[in-house]
Amino acid sequence: MIHFPDYIRKHAFRRPNHRALHFEGRDFTWAQYCARLHGIAQALVDLGVAPGDRVAYLGQNSHWIAESYFSPSLIGAISVPLNYRLAEDEMVEVIADCTPEVLIVDRHFQDRAAALMQRCPSLKHLIFADWDAPDAVLPGDTLIYEDLVKTHSDVSVDAFTDRASRNDDTIIIFYTSGTTGVPKGVMLSHANMMVNATAAGHLYGFQENDHILLSGPLFHLGSGSRIYTHAAYGSTLVIQPKFEVEEAMEMIQDHRITTVTLVPTMLNMIMDHPNFDKFDFSSIRCLTYGAAPMPIRLIERAMEAIPGLTFCQGYGMTETSPVVTVLPPADHVPGNPNIDKLGSVGKPVLYCEVRIVDENDNPLPDGQPGEVLLRGPQVMNGYWKRPEDTAHAMRGGFYHTGDAGYLDEDGYLFLVGRTKELIISGGENVYPIETENCLSKHPQVAQAAVLGIPHPKWGEEVHAVVSLREGATVTAEELIAFAKEKIAGYKAPRGITFWQGDLPLSPTNKIDKKFLKSQIVK
Ligand code: ATP
Ligand code: MG
Repeated sequence: MIHFPDYIRKHAFRRPNHRALHFEGRDFTWAQYCARLHGIAQALVDLGVAPGDRVAYLGQNSHWIAESYFSPSLIGAISVPLNYRLAEDEMVEVIADCTPEVLIVDRHFQDRAAALMQRCPSLKHLIFADWDAPDAVLPGDTLIYEDLVKTHSDVSVDAFTDRASRNDDTIIIFYTSGTTGVPKGVMLSHANMMVNATAAGHLYGFQENDHILLSGPLFHLGSGSRIYTHAAYGSTLVIQPKFEVEEAMEMIQDHRITTVTLVPTMLNMIMDHPNFDKFDFSSIRCLTYGAAPMPIRLIERAMEAIPGLTFCQGYGMTETSPVVTVLPPADHVPGNPNIDKLGSVGKPVLYCEVRIVDENDNPLPDGQPGEVLLRGPQVMNGYWKRPEDTAHAMRGGFYHTGDAGYLDEDGYLFLVGRTKELIISGGENVYPIETENCLSKHPQVAQAAVLGIPHPKWGEEVHAVVSLREGATVTAEELIAFAKEKIAGYKAPRGITFWQGDLPLSPTNKIDKKFLKSQIVK
């Protein structure tokens, strides 16, 4: 049977004193990590949590949230990490959707937790996860996580064998980023997570002696998947509470980090940091990136700035556990015959089948862009309480990603945008990524986001929102002329909005195009 926490038990058995986690000055060995999961699982049993019940977590990154990924599954319950960037009303909606019985909260969200306990009828118990005492705002019957761990420090590893979830049972529900619509709860199983760890992990070259820096938010599977791969490979995980660029650079240096995962906006912040040259990044073996389109210019810049460093790209989504294609380190080495594949997201991982189709789900030949469909054991159990959305997304037995892309003759997948972002201007299809990549090659452009805005004659018009580098003087006309020289005229922007400062980001650090559009189309 596949029970994901068995990886942790195995490491606790094989090398109990090896360091598993580091967080804010504290270290936990594999034996301690394992014992803590069992202690909390026993506490959940005592609270009456039954198999299938949900246990939610609200807080910044920490070892407590990492533990919350696993401890509910020991007794057959399901974890739900909550997006702490949501407004209170949005959070109430998510909780009403997944109806957890227990909420675990950290020190940063005590006020919010107090309000949620009042407003959400499903919530029966609150657990406070910290080393210090909670503030007075929390209800008097709030349980203290560390007391629960201490009280149940001797729970045996086979205490819950009868009620543990396994195989295709749901271990965790992640809500999607909501980039293209309302966030949906994605049910992922033990088997899903194991397939991801084995099919994608070895392409990243994860090793037992890695020191992994985790900075991205753990309410999102893009970063959260590192909790699973770390458990599978038995390495050491260094957890940053939330991404702060200079602190992340210090942590890489001080902890001799060997691998770190960044979304493109985080890499951009590091590369642009005034103290970039002062830090020692020589310990990093591999920098992995993904979750959003990576401008080719940015990855080329990083390759030049940190020679010898290898890069690895993953493409995936919450619904697919997440990684479905990988562009491996070998394809990032300057001078290798595949270096022109840098703009692609790589080839499908083991057991993942990719198909490109037109609007009627008919397969398209190589080179022709269409919707990316996926099939394989990494595809989710479904959307929580949304059977119709699940059936629609899974029609014909393939998961419909809503991403547009094409396969080249060598089997590499190139993404061109989201199907919903396709701009149809005067009957011509324009995918934003090509225009964005073109604009970001201009030396004075820091970031570019391309959108379709309504046009009375053409249906839609290609519009770019651009943030410029400091001291830049380029005009809209010059940028449009620059684009027209490099790509077909209908793909070049017709209009440009200059944005002061960095482009706005969604909670998972992707450029928030929904917001940009709302600012431009009034
Ligand atoms: P929602 O589904 O709620 O609209 P979302 O799709 O952004 O939000 P996620 O599951 O967090 O939610 O993100 C998956 C998406 O991120 C993919 O479908 C793809 O569009 C994008 N993505 C992921 N990895 C890459 C990558 N390497 N390059 C380009 N885009 C990527
Ligand atoms: Mg999506």
